[in-house]
Order: sequence, then structure tokens, then C-alpha cells
Amino acid sequence: MKPEKKDKILVVDDMAINLELINSVLNLEGNFSLVLVSDGKSAIRKAKTNYFDLILLDIMMPEMDGFEVCKILKSYPTTKDIPIIFLTALNGPKDIQKAFQYGAVDYISKPFSREELTSRVNLHISLKRTREELVKAKRAAEAAAEAKAIFLANMSHELRTPMNGIIGMVDILKRTELTDAQQEYLNIIESSGENLLTIINDILDLSKIEAGHMELESIPFSLSEEMRRVMNIMQIIADKKKLLVKLHVGKEVPPFVKGDPVRLKQIIINLVNNAIKFTEKGDITVSVENKSAENGKVHLLFKVMDTGIGISPEGQKKLFRSFSQVDKSTTRKYGGTGLGLMICKNLTQMMDGEIGVESVEGAGSTFWFTAFLGTSNEEEYNSQHQDDDISQTDKTRLNLKLKILLAEDNKINQKVAMLNLNNLGHKVVIANNGIEALEKFENDNFDIIFMDVQMPEMDGVEACKKIREMENKSGSIKKIPIIAMTANTSEDERKKYLEAGMDDYISKPFKQKELVEIFKKFAV
Ligand code: ADP
Repeated sequence: MKPEKKDKILVVDDMAINLELINSVLNLEGNFSLVLVSDGKSAIRKAKTNYFDLILLDIMMPEMDGFEVCKILKSYPTTKDIPIIFLTALNGPKDIQKAFQYGAVDYISKPFSREELTSRVNLHISLKRTREELVKAKRAAEAAAEAKAIFLANMSHELRTPMNGIIGMVDILKRTELTDAQQEYLNIIESSGENLLTIINDILDLSKIEAGHMELESIPFSLSEEMRRVMNIMQIIADKKKLLVKLHVGKEVPPFVKGDPVRLKQIIINLVNNAIKFTEKGDITVSVENKSAENGKVHLLFKVMDTGIGISPEGQKKLFRSFSQVDKSTTRKYGGTGLGLMICKNLTQMMDGEIGVESVEGAGSTFWFTAFLGTSNEEEYNSQHQDDDISQTDKTRLNLKLKILLAEDNKINQKVAMLNLNNLGHKVVIANNGIEALEKFENDNFDIIFMDVQMPEMDGVEACKKIREMENKSGSIKKIPIIAMTANTSEDERKKYLEAGMDDYISKPFKQKELVEIFKKFAV
């Protein structure tokens, strides 16, 4: 049988008789390996060069007293976590307080009983073991979370790339001559693809939140304008069920606020989508009110009211948790992953807000949430939205046939992008990687470049930097618009593209109308 691992204890006392006593008590009572020293300096030396589970430290010693030794040990990274128990004849309240202030875990008054000594030693060693296990478990959990975050970031790309092929091709196929039946089949593929994409996005969003990688933007925007845009889209969905979506923006709601409009809309879209999903007749009312303004922030209350199936009190308790749906039959009938409300909850928390529901079964539900947003004004808003005006200019030029450089290594994605661009009447030259893109850019004249980011040989970011360098060297005033085509949706990544000199990005999977938006924006 393997001998059990002994707990290592350093005992420091200037009196040989005390060392002797402790040695005999502990050797008799437990499975310890003791190192005995008689002064502070030797104690520090030993502690720095050996592993110890515990230190028993006398306070009153010549040259360097126990408090001083303790202070030094607590300041070294390798010794700071060793629990120290003071052995002391000084047991006034002030001395005891001082012992703890210096970082001791406990003290034993001299003269001590053998039972007290062994009990306290055993207690603190077992506490140390538990602490070590917790630290180990925490580290393992952190490493696993980190690995999961990296895995998901990669998966994000892997999952979206084939979706680009599916959704892009359906978009193209729908524009060809088809029988009614074929058109219907395509509609089914399209809506299934879009549903799948929503689920993928939800899962990726939630993992991003859980890994602490989700960051909110803080930009000025017009709340009523953004709300109206959302309502227009939601009405199209509601039309299919002949439901009306009404919007009410309170008078006190400021016209301009500062925050993350995309994430705010994501919460509203989620709630309105649910409202439409679970309502058969009646209407859906979305309202926003200003609760208060404090410390330069506006406190907004949003409500989404429906006249749908409602949720029982037990059902309400299950909401806002991951993968939680009110009951299995709901899932079967209405579909869904049960992630939407959890994402909403996390996003509202990131906006310092809360989320909740009031509902009567059979009568309808009101989902509400609050958010603190920054204040802004028209001037600030205009200064950051100048680009929008440029984007509207000279739309007539859109009819021009463009020569486009498409840098993309994936053959299916090449085809999707090429068919889309050809469909719009443009001429496309393909580069299979960054190096080819540079060669083609140097030897030809293009109006715009669409650049995949992840490519072999030379990636899109590198190629873009090189193109910008070439332009600078040649002194050309007009810079060619470079648009990143990416399946990576993280803010950090996108920032990286813009920093590398790209002008914009388009997320894969994309549709033809998103390409048109790009052409409008850059008026090429
Ligand atoms: P899912 O993707 O399943 O819709 P959610 O987190 O958005 O996920 O919603 C979780 C569950 O909450 C839904 O499956 C449904 O049971 C219930 N629910 C959400 N909104 C409503 C609503 N407006 N009316 C009735 N039930 C709702």
C-alpha cells in the first residue's frame, strides 16, 4: 500500500522545549512531517525553499518577532498562501486583533492543550485542502469556459459559411423561372434556412454573453426612428396572421439617446416576435416611456402587450432561463429554442435594466423591460451620422456596370457572390486568396473589392493593408472601397477589419439586397 501523503508543517519557536513538545504531540496524534526552526530568519528561508501546508509561529522571539516573520511571508508570492497559526502567550484582545491583521488564520494561546493544538492544526490543514481544491476547480472551469468561447468563435464561422451557400443560392434560384410548386418549395427552404440561422445566432449570442465576450456599443441614435423601423419589419410578419402592431412612444421620451441600438432592437424584436407567435387574434402594442432621468442617463420602460394565449403562473416562473419553455406542447406547436428570453434578460442586465412579465392565461401577456441609456442631442447624432447622407447620393450611378474584384477561397461562396453580382449586372473577377487579390488589383482597374477575411496564403486583413500601402505609395487620391465578407460577427473582429483599412463589412450569409445597400452606400 502506498503511504499516505504527510502534511508538512513548519514550527517556529525560540524555545527548544516548546519545539520538542509540539513535535511530540503532533507526531503522536497525526500523520505530519515537521520541520523545526528556532528563529525568524531560518523560518523565512525554509518557507521559501520548501513546500508547507501550515506554519506554527511563535510571536515573541529575539531579533525578529513572529509578526515581522508573518508580514514577510505574506509578501512573497510563494509563501503568502501558507496558513499561519500564531503560538502566543500574548492573548489580550489587541494582540489577537494584531495577529489577524498580519494575516494569521488563527492563534493558540500558550500553554496549550494537546487536543487544542491537534484540532486546530487539523482544521486549518483541511481548510487549506478545500481551498486548494476550489482554486483548482475554478481554474479548470475558467479554462473550460475559455476553450468553449474559442470553440464557439470558430464554430460561428463554420456554421455560417454553409448557411451562406444555402440562403444565397435560394435567393438566386428564386429569381429564375420556376413553376408555382417549385417556388413554394424554395420558400420553404428559405424560411427553414432563416429559422436555422436565427437559432445559430441565438446560440452564439448566448455563448458570447456567458463567456463575457458580449460588449455593448454607445452611439447616439434616434429612439423613435429605430422603433418605427422595427415596427415596420414586425408588421410584415404580423400581416401573415392579420395582426396589427401598434407603437406608442411617450411624449417625455427624448428624441436622441446614446446606447447600443442593435442590441436594444434585438430585445424588442424577440419580444414582439413572441407576441406575434403566441397571438391568434387581436393586436400587439409596443410602448416606450421615460421613467426618470438621473445622472445623465434616461431610464426607459418598454412594454410589449399581446392578446394571445397568455402564460400560467407556474409557466411564468420558468421564463428567462436558458432552454426553458413553458411546456413541451408549446415547443411542439410553436417551435423555438427557449433562448430568446434568456438573451433578452442578459441584454437588459447589460443595460442596467430589468425584465419581467405580467400575464393572464387565455387573455394575453405584457412583457416589459427597463434600460438605462445615455443622453444625446441632434448635434451629436448628426455628427456621427454624416455618412448616411453620402450613402443616399447619386443613386442613378447605381445603374453603371461595375468591375468587381472578389477575393474568396471557398468555391461555393465564390459562386454565390458571383451569381448575385452578375445578377445585378456587374462583372466579377475572382481571386482565390489574398496574394492573387494583390496581383489582380495591381494589374487591373476595379471599382470595388469584396474581400473574404479567412483565406489561405494571405488573409483578407493582410491583403487589405497591402492594398492601402500600394495606394499610398502610388499617391492615388481615390481609394478603392474594400468590403469585408465575413462569417465572423464579433465586434472585435469587425473593428479589426475597419482598422486594417476596410470600408465596411457584409455578414455571410448575405442576400442580394444587402449587396445593393453596399453599392448605394459607396455610390460606386
Ligand atoms: P422560444 O424561442 O422558445 O420562443 P423564448 O425564450 O423567447 O424562446 O420564450 C420561451 C417561452 O416563453 C416560449 O416557448 C413560450 O412558452 C413562452 N412565451 C414567450 N413569450 C410569450 C408570449 N408573448 N405569450 C405566451 N407565451 C410566451
